[in-house]
Amino acid sequence: MLGVKFLGKEKVDVIEYPDPEPGFREVVVRIKASALCRSDLNIYHDVNLDRKRKMNVIPGHEACGVVDILGDGISENEIKVGDRVAIYLGVGCGYCEYCRKGWYIFCSQRKILGFDINGGHAEFIKIPAENCLKIPEKISFIEGALSTDKFGGLYHAQKTLEVSGKDTVAIFGIGPMGQMAVLMAKALGAKVIAVDVVGSRLEFAEKEGADYIVNGKKKDVIYEINKLTNKVGADIAIDCSGNPIAQSNAIDCIKKEGSVAFIGESKVLQINPSKQFIRKQIKVIGSWYFPVWEYSEIVNLIISKNLNLEKWVTNKFKIEEAKKAYTLFDKYQAGITVFTM
Ligand SMILES: [Zn+2]
Ligand SMILES: [Zn+2]
Repeated sequence: MLGVKFLGKEKVDVIEYPDPEPGFREVVVRIKASALCRSDLNIYHDVNLDRKRKMNVIPGHEACGVVDILGDGISENEIKVGDRVAIYLGVGCGYCEYCRKGWYIFCSQRKILGFDINGGHAEFIKIPAENCLKIPEKISFIEGALSTDKFGGLYHAQKTLEVSGKDTVAIFGIGPMGQMAVLMAKALGAKVIAVDVVGSRLEFAEKEGADYIVNGKKKDVIYEINKLTNKVGADIAIDCSGNPIAQSNAIDCIKKEGSVAFIGESKVLQINPSKQFIRKQIKVIGSWYFPVWEYSEIVNLIISKNLNLEKWVTNKFKIEEAKKAYTLFDKYQAGITVFTM
């Protein structure tokens, strides 16, 4: 089968891999759509210390396809050849406290698709049956792929913060994750303020439903958000950028007793706990992904609100075009980018 291979710093190609064969309680899925994510670029840019190991793994952790082969030990009641499935990104031991709660990503033995084990940027993938998330006919393969990390991750964060129609939500960083955050907050009924420094991203967010946009390059973000909220501040802020200035602004733009979610991966942030946290009695959460059982809620939301996730896709590539896809995505010349097979 064909699959993406990292060859060195910012070098990527497509090579022939052996077709995967399922082991006990594993399935092989024929991939139909696999979305790129900025975290894929960590290996591409050579920033991981254990990069050598990860370079030998097929990337891609937001994938969707059709069950092609069943391994032993799987009953037809669980999953069948031909089932349409999105794929949960973490493989756990299945027995620990976290796996029992559906949080495979917190398992001490967890393996992450595209980083520790072969991921979705290929024609096929081998995964445990437990990682198959069945999708109904109404959800396309591209939507299935986007519904995992991007949309699903944002669902869990906003569910945790109880986002609803009573809230004004400020979303920082309108890249792929931020766009899904806008879509999610609107689906949950909130008023949305989209914040970024790239004009085209903000225009897109506005076109797709953001109530207000603030360009941090041109305006004082805190001043603008105060103005838009009658000097009260936003109820909730979500940072999808991972940029320290945006993260700090996310904390400062919310009202007293407000809440903040950090989604964008980042390393260091300097804060003033008394001024920014304690005296405002705010709540700050980190959010990465969702527990496996929550997927039915995610699917139900997409269907009941008639959300069109595909509308947000700017670039589709064949797997053979991996070099071009990575180059454009890396240089921010492509928005939400998906390999389709
Ligand atoms: Zn991702
Ligand atoms: Zn476990």
